[in-house]
Amino acid sequence: MYQIEVKNLTYVYSAETLCEEKALNDINLGIKKGEFIGLIGQTGSGKSTLAKQLNAILKPTTGNVFLDGVDIWKKPKEIQNIRFRVGMVFQYPEHQIFEDSVYKEISFGPRNMGLSETEIERKVYLACNFVGLDVNLLYKSPFNLSGGEKRKIAIAGIVAMEPEVLILDEPTAGLDPKGRQQLLEHLKQYHDLNNKTIILISHNMEDIVKYTDKVAVLNNGKLEVFDETRKVFLDRNILKKIRIKPPQIITIMSALKEKYVSLDDNILTVDEAVSELLKLKKSRSEGFVK
Ligand code: ADP
Ligand code: MG
Repeated sequence: MYQIEVKNLTYVYSAETLCEEKALNDINLGIKKGEFIGLIGQTGSGKSTLAKQLNAILKPTTGNVFLDGVDIWKKPKEIQNIRFRVGMVFQYPEHQIFEDSVYKEISFGPRNMGLSETEIERKVYLACNFVGLDVNLLYKSPFNLSGGEKRKIAIAGIVAMEPEVLILDEPTAGLDPKGRQQLLEHLKQYHDLNNKTIILISHNMEDIVKYTDKVAVLNNGKLEVFDETRKVFLDRNILKKIRIKPPQIITIMSALKEKYVSLDDNILTVDEAVSELLKLKKSRSEGFVK
């Protein structure tokens, strides 16, 4: 059974007004528990709107979203529970920080869940560990910290609720390469250790290829493809159709393939390319290949 299932989901902003905008058009997809999903597409393709449907910030115009087989809008009065179970980190989440201490900020979610103070504290520490935030900062004001630290605090606030599904909308935008790498590595560890489902929205195709098992591609509100990440990125036709620029290493390997025909160009990451090029070098030095 799917953990999340989206059926015939259509969403129209400002329906029946002059500004009507169909942002999602008949989306169908199923996500299993523990999958690491990438959600990609051009700006305006509907990624953020779909994410907001999954954690019940927005309600479908038509169609349904199921969580463990139950329509999330079945009991509208209990909709807050869905938002605890499907946690969402918005774009630039640090802009929404408002508490005057880091501890208060991170504990805001778990406190709303009605947990005991001991349990809240445990979750705050776990969340700090997850995002790599120094616990000595817990009693400082978040407003005096760096942008990268604020981002970690905002993400920790969602992780502290230990959601079954974690959705992150461009979580690394604006971070330096080191911060980006660190955040994604923590995310991967969190996923691997806890078997949590993760949905990552990103414009960085290197990251999508490196971290996700499957990728959903939105194109103008429609789900163009939903398949294993490797399959999608090795299919030049799909990439062209959706106007997504592949990771640079794919382009480089295709160009090299024209010169060295024996080269395997089914390569998606720099690590894979290095090992393939070393193989080529070895066979050339042994005189097997031209
Ligand atoms: P993405 O996250 O892929 O950039 P969005 O989900 O933000 O795409 O937007 C999808 C479409 O919905 C776009 O055409 C956008 O202009 C429109 N849209 C997004 N938010 C709103 C809104 N609050 N009101 C009206 N239209 C919106
Ligand atoms: Mg967006």
